[in-house]
Amino acid sequence: MKLTEAMLLKYGEIALRGKNRQLYEERLLDTVRGRLGREYTVIREQGRFLIRRADEGAFDYDFVTARVKNIFGLVGLCPCVMTEEQCIDNLRALALAYARKHFSGKSTFKVESRRADKRYPLRSQEISASIGEYVLNGMDNMTVNVRNPDAVLYVELRTHAYIYSETISAPGGLPPGASGKGLLLLSGGIDSPVAGYLVAKRGVQLEAVYFHSPPFTSERARDKAADIAEALSVYTDTRLHVIKFTDIQMLIKGKTPPEKLTLLLKRAMLRTAEKAAERRGCQCLVTGDSIGQVASQTLAGICATNSAVSLPVMRPLCGFDKLEIIALAKKIGTYEISIRPYEDCCTLFVPKHPETNPKKSIIERIEANMTGLDALIEQAAMTVEA
Ligand code: ATP
Ligand code: MG
Repeated sequence: MKLTEAMLLKYGEIALRGKNRQLYEERLLDTVRGRLGREYTVIREQGRFLIRRADEGAFDYDFVTARVKNIFGLVGLCPCVMTEEQCIDNLRALALAYARKHFSGKSTFKVESRRADKRYPLRSQEISASIGEYVLNGMDNMTVNVRNPDAVLYVELRTHAYIYSETISAPGGLPPGASGKGLLLLSGGIDSPVAGYLVAKRGVQLEAVYFHSPPFTSERARDKAADIAEALSVYTDTRLHVIKFTDIQMLIKGKTPPEKLTLLLKRAMLRTAEKAAERRGCQCLVTGDSIGQVASQTLAGICATNSAVSLPVMRPLCGFDKLEIIALAKKIGTYEISIRPYEDCCTLFVPKHPETNPKKSIIERIEANMTGLDALIEQAAMTVEA
């Protein structure tokens, strides 16, 4: 029996979203189509998407899986066989052919069925029983175990019928860009890429800014930020803007007591990023801050820097321990790039005894007296293309 190979895609949360559902689905569908070439067609199939070959060629599961498994909004990928002819005899034959191909080395199985069209003459339980019996008779050395089987043969009756046994997990979340656009402050460290990933997972399209301070920071440090942005683009296109920060940094360094330097630099980064965000149509800023991780990230420190801007600043790592952040960085593929030993402009200027309980009003007063800072910030933000 000829098996028509295909892949069913399951999506999670967006199925629940009332009026927006159509919009979210379309965005997700477009993203999937955009990742695959012309050899594949992607259509809606009653609460799922279906990927098929557009021609007679073989379905390349490795290729398709690699292309779609990181798309936010999808929760599972099911390599399957399908048939248009849904009568039970045909389903039984298809299931047996599938089991013979895929269940070698397994000794127990069960069948689970689901019918979208309740007019189908058999109920789900009956479909499972009928197919299970047929497969059992056709397979040597296999028995049924409904509690703890080695393999589950799933049967789904929708516009067509599908049979599969494996679900490759996908990241979930919301489709790329469905929630708008944000600007990530991307440092080249471990934290900020993870923060970007988490926000992008909620449907926020990302752009990124890296503050570059030559000659204090090297070209290689900049390349590292570029490589991280590229690594994030596996999940969602992340365009990187490099903003030259040297002049701002020197001005602030000359006029700030050392223990307050990091806070004033961070305010200047946020202010520049906010202006760049406005030019690029971004509705929020994103940073890799985690409460209490370093002196500038105590609540008092966050308070004293946050007041520099009025755009919301997302800090998705605020409740994460460093080890949790590292584990996630490894999982998403940014960790190895982040630990390359190149300097960051903040670490170069880190004071010996940074303030951990700064007073917002004092920080703001120092900043207000810095002649020329506003103009430099304006100028730096202008280097980001509108
Ligand atoms: P990371 O691991 O992301 O570098 P960190 O633990 O080193 O974070 P900080 O240096 O205090 O912490 O930076 C906090 C946040 O400020 C970073 O997560 C990032 O969002 C932003 N940031 C710091 N330096 C830069 C930079 N050179 N360019 C862009 N953003 C930066
Ligand atoms: Mg850093």
